Amino acid sequence: MKLTATTRPLGLIGHPVSHSKSPEMLNEVCKILGIPAVYLAYAVEPNQLEEAVRGMKALGFIGFNVTIPHKVAIIPFLDELDDTAAEIGAVNTVVNQDGKLIGYNTDGVGYLRSLTEETAFSLRDKTVTILGAGGAARAVSITLAKAGVKELFIANRTVEKAEQLSEVVTKWTRASGVSLHESNEEIAKSHLLVNTTSIGMTPSEEHSPIPLEYLHPALLVSDLIYRPKETKLLQRAASIGASTHGGLGMLLYQAAVAVEHWFGQKAPIAQMRTILENGD
Ligand code: NAP
Repeated sequence: MKLTATTRPLGLIGHPVSHSKSPEMLNEVCKILGIPAVYLAYAVEPNQLEEAVRGMKALGFIGFNVTIPHKVAIIPFLDELDDTAAEIGAVNTVVNQDGKLIGYNTDGVGYLRSLTEETAFSLRDKTVTILGAGGAARAVSITLAKAGVKELFIANRTVEKAEQLSEVVTKWTRASGVSLHESNEEIAKSHLLVNTTSIGMTPSEEHSPIPLEYLHPALLVSDLIYRPKETKLLQRAASIGASTHGGLGMLLYQAAVAVEHWFGQKAPIAQMRTILENGD
């Protein structure tokens, strides 16, 4: 697309951002949808976050994505939060609505769309164990609780964080926090196991968040990690006959929902998926 004096900026802020596929994917989206915009990745140090946000507002950004480590820290610098972002307590997408910066969280809904589109799993009346209690766990557990799961177990290395998150989630469903390494009984009772920890991510591909013998064939094992595409946890799950679901779809759909917030148009999912799948 030709860059002109009316081309508007979009972008990603985080630290680091050099690994991100978002610029390639979202510039292609702008081209396909005919949006005169350009999307760039900006490495922003935590002590420059406020300045960066003010700058993007002043320069008339259409909006931007927010990634680690700014998803929570950005909240005081925004004008408004939508209800889901407020419930989750983190923002990954910002829309500049006539000079007002509105924060959204598309991680949870992106995960749910990925699970629904890519598996035959129905959440209603199911028992789910979430591994981890960080930002992604917050988004996924609140979204799954609201979508109708019967019971959620949150298993984390730091048990207090699992207990705190389960207290939040009890607003929508039965939930309790347990220790990551003592989660075998909860996993045995579960239909879905979701890894939201960073264990198993490149370059630590040999690691698993839980002892692999906790897995059983009746599980759907879902891993938010997308690098590698198939983690050790997913490899083992597949080898014992359990169903598996990788993290690439969440990455795709959280971006697709952001596109819908910015442009009010349906995202070109197939082309976006091709770009992500061709990544290293
Ligand atoms: P985060 O807020 O830093 O949370 C990290 C979680 O991992 C915490 O529960 C932490 O436990 C646990 N953890 C980290 N190292 C551990 C270790 N050595 N042993 C046991 N537990 C450990 O990070 P996040 O934003 O939630 O992201 C987590 C993962 O999700 C990352 O791999 C990220 O790439 C992935 N993710 C994927 C997508 C997607 O689109 N597919 C979107 C968002 C995130 P403690 O509380 O005990 O520290």
